[in-house]
Amino acid sequence: MMCSDKNSIQQNLEQIRQQIRAAEQQYSRHSNSVQLLAVSKTKPIEAIKQAIDAGQTQFGENYVQEGVDKIQYFAQHYNHSELEWHFIGPIQSNKTRPIAENFDWVHSIDREKIAQRLNDQRPAELPPLQVLIQVNTSGEASKSGIQQDEVFALAELINRLPNLTLRGLMSIPENVSDHQSQLAAFNQLAEIQSKLHALYPQMDTLSMGMSGDMPAAIEAGSTMVRIGTAIFGARDYR
Ligand SMILES: *Cc1c(COP(=O)(O)O)cnc(C)c1O
Repeated sequence: MMCSDKNSIQQNLEQIRQQIRAAEQQYSRHSNSVQLLAVSKTKPIEAIKQAIDAGQTQFGENYVQEGVDKIQYFAQHYNHSELEWHFIGPIQSNKTRPIAENFDWVHSIDREKIAQRLNDQRPAELPPLQVLIQVNTSGEASKSGIQQDEVFALAELINRLPNLTLRGLMSIPENVSDHQSQLAAFNQLAEIQSKLHALYPQMDTLSMGMSGDMPAAIEAGSTMVRIGTAIFGARDYR
């Protein structure tokens, strides 16, 4: 069982990397312009070790305590200073401190208060937290992410905070299966990003695309796909 799991995580990573390279070619993207974030939420340390052994260095976590436990485990037991930890889940304002103290990136900033707290709580000895604004591109269908017409004001605020570096935008579109509908939602985010990029040239990251909609995200300009199930298998929330 252990052995076949290990093989499958390595094989899945290889397959995803191939699919990313193929989509880059198909949609005339520069080669290696799309990074792979492995979403390891709910998955054990052992699964993450297998992914690291297969060359994966960037990991995404959704739950604060689980993510912090994993970060601290790898800091203590592994000499993997090249690992990069991304917080991608919803953020409650009373949970910002452990995020600011442990993670390298945050994808899910959706309001001023969260940005301000992460800035104030980022330890001085760490580099600035690399952050993305999560945008709602599904209208009423989703509650997560800031409304599109409020993105610019939040970007302006974050840009003034010294302990945060605004790197781009993230979205989780409505779960639809056809490529054209997926593409339409991702194009909305890409359009906002290109307007913001003109104002803030350091904004170089578009975090979009998951296991079910990766090619459309890459076609629309994603620079970071967040892949869980296709690497680690289905999640068990019991
Ligand atoms: C769980 C999750 C993912 C990964 O989703 P899969 O469909 O398993 O690839 C990506 N992004 C966010 C924000 C998530 O919560």
